Amino acid sequence: DSQPSGPTSGTARSASLFERAQAVTPGGVNSPVRAFNAVGGTPRFIRSARGAWLTDVDGNEYVDLICSWGPMLLGHGHPEVQAAVAAAVARGTSYGTPTEPEVELAEEIVARTPVDRVRFVSSGTEATMSAIRLARGFTGRDVVLKFAGCYHGHVDSLLASAGSGLATFAVPGTPGVPESSTALTLVLPYNDRAAVEKAFAEHGERIACLITEAAPGNMGVVPPEPGFNAFLAETCARHGALFISDEVMTGFRAGRLGQWGLDGAREGWRPDLMTFGKVMGGGFPAAAFGGRADVMSRLAPEGPVYQAGTLSGNPIATTAGLTTLRLATDEVYAHIDAAGETIKAAAAAALSEAGVPHVVQSTGTMFSVFFTDPADGPVRDFADASRTDSIAFAAFFHAMLDRRVYLPPSAYEAWFLSSAHDDRAVQTVLDALPEAAEAAA
Ligand code: PLP
Repeated sequence: DSQPSGPTSGTARSASLFERAQAVTPGGVNSPVRAFNAVGGTPRFIRSARGAWLTDVDGNEYVDLICSWGPMLLGHGHPEVQAAVAAAVARGTSYGTPTEPEVELAEEIVARTPVDRVRFVSSGTEATMSAIRLARGFTGRDVVLKFAGCYHGHVDSLLASAGSGLATFAVPGTPGVPESSTALTLVLPYNDRAAVEKAFAEHGERIACLITEAAPGNMGVVPPEPGFNAFLAETCARHGALFISDEVMTGFRAGRLGQWGLDGAREGWRPDLMTFGKVMGGGFPAAAFGGRADVMSRLAPEGPVYQAGTLSGNPIATTAGLTTLRLATDEVYAHIDAAGETIKAAAAAALSEAGVPHVVQSTGTMFSVFFTDPADGPVRDFADASRTDSIAFAAFFHAMLDRRVYLPPSAYEAWFLSSAHDDRAVQTVLDALPEAAEAAA
């Protein structure tokens, strides 16, 4: 392994590509958070990646704490995943017929999660959208309950903000979503049992499903309070609604069995439907929804609820995902957990030393650092997360980037690690933290 190239060798090529990109693509990016709008400056255009390291077009190397926003559990360019994908590509890239890798990946997911059956799609957005359609088709009801701060992809009905009060229907969270699309969505504060009880008391007969991130990671990591997911599962069951646990981010990431392994598997309950993505695609576009056999059997062609996709279960993506999951052993999670513990402790120590208020939260191997005041207590919901000091985070982010650590360019994200984050990568993060904490002070 060569050593990283040292202090930044400039960003001229990234800056020039960013200018060209902005001319032909809104914001110069194909997903908004990549644009550095929250932190300012020029996003680095990445040329290649290996293990825990990204190399940009100017030749700078960075320890990658984005990991493609979750998928790269084994790091970049894992030789076995690369070889399996290369062999799959050599056999042709897409046939639009059933294939063996799809069956094997479905079997692997069914073996590793509480779902009985799955259907593959190409993005987490499609997975949650399809799960909601299936829940509505199965129950014959129309209302969907979600939590503020939980992100389930850019599904119209879920791009919703809370209405004027608890248990009133939502308003669109973005232009382009008609009011009619969110008029059947209720948005509640996370970790708030009373709000859930009230919504079911007022609308229970009409609620098709409640969808939640199994442990929110999209407002920073906000663990469900003990028993909260069990309470949701039980409340849904009592009212004849389906409980949809979105594990697109946490699945095969928070732990070997995802967030469910940390609560449901121990407490003896399971969601009616689950959604997966990210890690299960091994860096390719693959996602899935699955669940109870009687619910899944309502899906076309067995049942009447329509759902389809040209590239769904694509042989390259399913091969990458299958190889990744088979390599994702207990040792992988133990390694990521240990690296995470080291980085969390060092971040907390550096920020304390610099006098920067912060709160570190985790669920399983997933964690994030909030730039909020610990005097206000833990971050329990979106209102708490919104207190984050985004100016302090931006200063911290850029100081880390200057020291060759590429954090997610947003204060509301988990810091992702991989089994390739070895001592050298972790040490690079530790070395950067004290001065970055000073920059945030
Ligand atoms: N659900 C969760 C919990 C996610 O974190 C995401 C993406 O970050 C999605 C759904 C949407 O997935 P995709 O970006 O693949 O559409």
